[in-house]
Parts: sequence; C-alpha cells; structure tokens
Amino acid sequence: MAIPEPQFDELYRELILQHYRHPRNRGRLPGAALRAEGANPVCGDEVTIELEMNDGRIARAAFEGQGCSISQASASMLTETVAGKTVAEVRRLADAFERMLVNGEPPAPELGDLEAFQGVSKFPVRVKCALLSWKVLQRALEGAA
Ligand code: ZN
Repeated sequence: MAIPEPQFDELYRELILQHYRHPRNRGRLPGAALRAEGANPVCGDEVTIELEMNDGRIARAAFEGQGCSISQASASMLTETVAGKTVAEVRRLADAFERMLVNGEPPAPELGDLEAFQGVSKFPVRVKCALLSWKVLQRALEGAA
C-alpha cells in the first residue's frame, strides 16, 4: 500500500535521484557494533542501519531497506554523512535535519548535501520518509557508550 510518488520537481532534486538509483553503503557490516531498524507504515518504507564504531566515532555506516525514493536516498546519504563523526556531532546533525524538514528552517551549514531534502518540508506526508533513517540511526546510537 505505498502512496503514489508525487510529481513535484522540487521533491526530486538530482542528488536524491542519484542516491536512490545508486545507493551508497548498501548492505551489512560484519563488524557492526550497533544496529536498529524501523518502518514508516504510511508509505511502506523500511530501513535497517548498522554502525561500526571506533573510539566514540562512527567508523562506517551501512543500510538495508526498501521503500520510496525519498526514504532510500535519505538512508544512502545518511551513511555517507555520518562516517567519521562523533555521536554528539551526529545527534546535532539529526536535529538540524529534522528542524529543516519539520519546522521549515533554512538548512544549517553543517547539513551539506542533506539540504537537497529541503523541498520535502513542503510535503508533510513525505517528511516521515526522509526522517525515517535518521530516527533509526538515533535509535541505534542509544546503544553507544
Ligand atoms: Zn516513503
């Protein structure tokens, strides 16, 4: 019961399509210390995230999942963005991403490529798609020391 993909150009920034068609870090991490999964039943999106940790930083992140282009592109971009960052840095990033999408705030500079999702903020039903992987990430990080 996936909801139809909306036909709004601004939702489909080129970077989002690139990540959807060629997802980065898709698969499992044999050495993953942290793992969480989640779903967005409204759209049928599913995302699992695995993290390898090293000295308080995320060494590598990978995801598996299925669902709409927004949810999967968001997960792909997340895995690239969080690699090498500390848990605190990632929590701030997740917060800034959520404020851009939910409150319509201008993208914070540290969001970098994630600003590609800014247009999604105009489509509340898709905001959950974009946020899913970040919610799953935060759940995974609850297990971090
Ligand atoms: Zn979705």
